[in-house]
Amino acid sequence: MQSSVLTDEMVEEPGAAEQNDGEEGTSPLLVGALGLLAVLVLVRSVLPDLAGDLLHVLIGAGAVLIGTLAVMGYRPTRRRGWYLLLGGTSLWVLGDLTRAVAAGGTPSDSVTVPDVISLVGFLLLGLGALDFTRARSGASDLGSVLDAMIVTTSIAVALGIFVVAPLADTSTLPLATKAVNAAFPVGDLFLLGVLVRLYAVPGARVVSYYLLTAGAGLLLAADTGYELSTLIASDLESSRLIDAGRLAGYLLIAGAATAPSMRVLADPDPPPPQNRLSRRRQGALVVALLLPNVALLTDGFSSGARHWQVIAAGMLLICILMLVRILRLISTVQEQAISLGDLARADGLTGAPNRRTWDYEVTRATDMAREHGTSLCVAIIDLDKFKVYNDTHGHQAGDKLLKESVAAWTAQLRPPALLARYGGEEFALLAPGFTPLQLATVLERLRTVTPYGQTFSAGVAQWDPLTEATSATKAADAALYAAKRAGRNRVVIAGQEPPPGPPTGSVELTSITVKADPIRPIDEDKPPLASRRGRRRVHHMPAFTMVTQPIADLRAQQVCAHEALARFDMPGTLNDNTADVFRQAYREGFGDLLELAAIQAALDLPDRPADHDLYVNASARALMSARMRTGLPDDLSGVIVELSEDPGDVDMADLVRVVNDLRDRGAGIALDDVGAGALEFARLAQIQPDMVKIDRSLVVGCASDPGRTAVLRGLVTYAEAVDALLCAEGAETAADLSHLMSLGVTHAQGNLLSPARPGWMPTLYRPPFVTDGQPPVQTTARTPVQATGATLGETTGDTPGEVASEMADTNPLGYRPGGFEDPDSTSPIFIRPEP
Ligand code: GH3
Ligand code: MG
Ligand code: MG
Repeated sequence: MQSSVLTDEMVEEPGAAEQNDGEEGTSPLLVGALGLLAVLVLVRSVLPDLAGDLLHVLIGAGAVLIGTLAVMGYRPTRRRGWYLLLGGTSLWVLGDLTRAVAAGGTPSDSVTVPDVISLVGFLLLGLGALDFTRARSGASDLGSVLDAMIVTTSIAVALGIFVVAPLADTSTLPLATKAVNAAFPVGDLFLLGVLVRLYAVPGARVVSYYLLTAGAGLLLAADTGYELSTLIASDLESSRLIDAGRLAGYLLIAGAATAPSMRVLADPDPPPPQNRLSRRRQGALVVALLLPNVALLTDGFSSGARHWQVIAAGMLLICILMLVRILRLISTVQEQAISLGDLARADGLTGAPNRRTWDYEVTRATDMAREHGTSLCVAIIDLDKFKVYNDTHGHQAGDKLLKESVAAWTAQLRPPALLARYGGEEFALLAPGFTPLQLATVLERLRTVTPYGQTFSAGVAQWDPLTEATSATKAADAALYAAKRAGRNRVVIAGQEPPPGPPTGSVELTSITVKADPIRPIDEDKPPLASRRGRRRVHHMPAFTMVTQPIADLRAQQVCAHEALARFDMPGTLNDNTADVFRQAYREGFGDLLELAAIQAALDLPDRPADHDLYVNASARALMSARMRTGLPDDLSGVIVELSEDPGDVDMADLVRVVNDLRDRGAGIALDDVGAGALEFARLAQIQPDMVKIDRSLVVGCASDPGRTAVLRGLVTYAEAVDALLCAEGAETAADLSHLMSLGVTHAQGNLLSPARPGWMPTLYRPPFVTDGQPPVQTTARTPVQATGATLGETTGDTPGEVASEMADTNPLGYRPGGFEDPDSTSPIFIRPEP
């Protein structure tokens, strides 16, 4: 109930309480009034009874008034604590008044109205102080509450045995009154407990704090004195002293409200670690535990254990509180130990197990492998050219790549396989139960899921049970370096030659990343929008990377060409945004230059297989630009320029002239996306391309679609008539592919063969299909390709046959296995298309 109200007040007037630890800003008027009241306390002690009582009430009321004015003046963020304190004080003043009026200050034998008023006052005082405790500690800390309860209970037992009991023994009052009066110390205890808390919690120790605790402490002492005086017939002197103590308490509380530091009294300190036990607090708890035992001993020796019930009850309560406290501490420590252990085992950036865990797990795995006589393989993975990636995209992007790579790779793995971060951009993969070939297969799969088109090299080694645990890691490391030396982007099994060709013949991808360059648009025909408005603007060429997608010759069943595609690495975009980037570049007046840059980058790709054609994309609009044409090399042999489908407002006759110029330089001409646009027949008729690329909208699902089949037949007839090649784009199922072949389509391109990515496909790579009844030709393609659908830890088969039949269940492309000639062959899996 309390806390909800507290939070309400916390949000009220956020600017009201400025941080102010100093004491400047004290109202001199209020301080002066307080000083005057202090003098009056002295005067009161020498005044006769009635006048003295009147003055007493006046001083008390004055203190409450001054305190209230101060709170209203300072307007601290949390005012409720102050009003509770002042409310409690005013009830006490009221109690004093009623007491004076009722019996001239003599304690009565029964419970009286003044006692009840004072008791409620106690409650308000305690709640007020508690409000500050909670605000200062910043959070509710059950540990501190328990500590305060333990200490309070202990002090209560000690007070009861050493102070109250001896006095009560000598009292002449009737037992019933004694019992009723004994209820009042509950109020004292409550206030005491709150004061202990206020002392224990953190928070600014400012003047206001000291005045407040001194004031509340004095009131507590005065009340304890008063209660004792009701047990024994007290003299005038002691009752005067008690009254003076009370007045001083009122004044101190008013002083606490008047000190400017009252504004920061409720400010929270950073919350302490939960359940923290400082030295001081430990000492307090030890004393609290011992005190009741000392009381028991003393009671036993001095009065024959007459108060054992009180002590036993107190000790029982303390025991319960202690037990709760300790159990909570233990569970906190246990939780912390667990999370610390997790932290110590994992790598902070990627969350993968770290090197220490790796070392431990390797030893464990070798022990297991030796015991059970099973195979154990290890791989070391190292991202290629990661330093360049960092330099190009920034360290944060590098971190992101590391994190996302780990996430992508681990998603492919199941226990007991373990992927650990071995070093900076090196990772280690532990694969119990795997043969080197199986692990290499898994690594091939991991490579395809590496984010942002990045590649890695890996070394694989099998552990030899006659050697030490770390030997396999060392061998894998050596194999990794062999992979790096052979050109990166490949997996090398220790003791074997690095596989030739790509993913072997790798592309030094980063070397052809086009850096963002400022370009001043100077299109001769159309000035760009910006300069038309009279402003000169420098535009930035977006950075991009080139990826390639293989084109297969369906007749020879081999890869014969690659299409180069630009990929723009825009932060936050995962989808293909190429068209948008080009569109924007045209809007800004340098679209032709961006197209030129992409073609130049494609031509600069290193290690292109000599007998492969390179397909590059160009729009008719770009080809109309003179700077584009002069930027292209004079010799374009081996290059096929793909004219994109959108002819814009280009004059067909001009386009034909430009196309002929390109042909003169040795280029072939392909028409892209045929079947998607409106002017297909005009294009086909006038450009007379060397290659027609059929738009994927005509290809996807053609096997079961008579309409598409008819159009395709038409295109085949056309191509045969003009002696052009015909390439199906988006050939993504085996059924479509075999249908296209049966129609006479000569080439295909699509994810079934390979998605666009860095690197070249070797000529001998055989796409995963066979023609009727023909056994697959043994090739040396992307080694080893069996089990592309299997994940590590899942694979149990040892021979390629077993692995393949497992794969049949998980094959995402819907193949049925069927093309196996020799289960022991290491050739790629050839699978018959579904009928
Ligand atoms: P190679 O293909 O030969 O492996 O070349 P490389 O650039 O990947 O290898 P090299 O060892 O030269 O550089 C590794 C770089 O990895 C250097 C270092 O700055 C970077 N790196 C290491 N740890 C981190 C990391 O936690 N975050 C980022 N962003 N970079 C890291
Ligand atoms: Mg590296
Ligand atoms: Mg490295």
